[in-house]
Amino acid sequence: SVAKAIEQNDGTYNCYVSLDKESALQKAERVQKKIDSGEATSLFAGVPIAIKDNICEKGKLTSCSSKILSNFKPPYNATVINKLNDADMVPFGKVNMDEFAMGSTTETSFYGPTKNPWDVTKVPGGSSGGAAASVAADESLIALGSDTGGSIRQPASFCGVTGLKPTYGAVSRYGLIAYASSLDQIGPLGKDVLDVAGVFNVIKGKDVKDGTSMESEVFDLADIKLDNLKGKKIGIPNDYFGEGISAEVAASVKAAAQTLKDLGADVEEFDMPIVKYAIPTYYIIACAEACSNLSRFDGIKYGYKSKDAFNLTDVYFKSRSEGFGMEVKKRIMLGNFVLSSGYFDAYYKKALQAKGLICKAFNEAFQKYDFLLGPVAPTTALKMGEGLSDPLAMYLGDIYTVMINIAGLPSLALPCGFDTNSMPIGMQLIGKPFDEKTILSAGYAYQ
Ligand code: GLN
Repeated sequence: SVAKAIEQNDGTYNCYVSLDKESALQKAERVQKKIDSGEATSLFAGVPIAIKDNICEKGKLTSCSSKILSNFKPPYNATVINKLNDADMVPFGKVNMDEFAMGSTTETSFYGPTKNPWDVTKVPGGSSGGAAASVAADESLIALGSDTGGSIRQPASFCGVTGLKPTYGAVSRYGLIAYASSLDQIGPLGKDVLDVAGVFNVIKGKDVKDGTSMESEVFDLADIKLDNLKGKKIGIPNDYFGEGISAEVAASVKAAAQTLKDLGADVEEFDMPIVKYAIPTYYIIACAEACSNLSRFDGIKYGYKSKDAFNLTDVYFKSRSEGFGMEVKKRIMLGNFVLSSGYFDAYYKKALQAKGLICKAFNEAFQKYDFLLGPVAPTTALKMGEGLSDPLAMYLGDIYTVMINIAGLPSLALPCGFDTNSMPIGMQLIGKPFDEKTILSAGYAYQ
């Protein structure tokens, strides 16, 4: 069982920041009674679910894996938590992440790194590394993560599990502690496409508390099983196979393309030269929004307050200096720099122009194709420590994921093979806005 796996292995993998066994067990008992009396109608009634530690749960530690929130218990639930509860699911623990979701390795957590269950000398990816590793290690059946620039898809891919980054607006962000508000989305990670599709149906929908959320079609899981790939047009961006991709990852994704072809799809390669602007555009927009979002952590309203602050300026200065880790500080500084007068036009404004071009390139591609196929990351999981020692290389590793957030598109990451060290390789199916059904159906047909 999940509880046994956690007991036996979480000392090694470190997927969980906090566990709430008692209230989870009580809830499970209540749900069992409802199931027995025929009152519980949801397909997922009684299913335990792990929650990334940046999603607020009333009265439960929600730390963003940061010292600055290491004592923060929110007074309210995120909308997704209410929706899970309405479906009688059982949130039972908070999973580890890169501090404030900034990173690709889950090594920047205040609570120590999570390890990849396939090989504990390697990272699980990030920032939803705890979520992905918990599913891979059977320490959860399903988990909620968040994806700002790949944080669901890349750890899913490094840990050999399936993850969905929904369309921007498909799932309410109310109660998700913001990293970059125009890019953030909550989504599920699970063992396979159907699990992920089912939980996506549970959490999605318009929410008056998130003005960017929108209603979208609730599909039947049976439709996903029935829909087939015959006649579907799939585009493969050539520029997703450029410099830096490992030969094994490229070969594995190309082999998956052939499988999709064998299943009846039309597969075609096309050029997408805008890919070369993906990383700078993303890091400028994400850091600009992050420095604004993180200004609320000041030692007064929430969380950690420095013990030896003398006056008010001191409270702000020392609480933030002591409460934030290095990666977060770096990004706050970068964000303030690109927004500062004198540099705004050269950086932030340029990034917004590039964003326009990225959206245009996807729009054009979707005139021709039903969905797109590409790798999730250029390599399989890195060795622990590698990303931290070469941050630029780590940022470059986000090249295939970040444009999807910039354009607000849905993308499904799923396993497509192994490298010679038996580490999982992932691919992603990128869909039209609010057309999760097509990529989920294709993923189901493939898996
Ligand atoms: N690795 C990316 C970053 O560090 C993406 C993180 C995310 O999606 N939260 O910003």
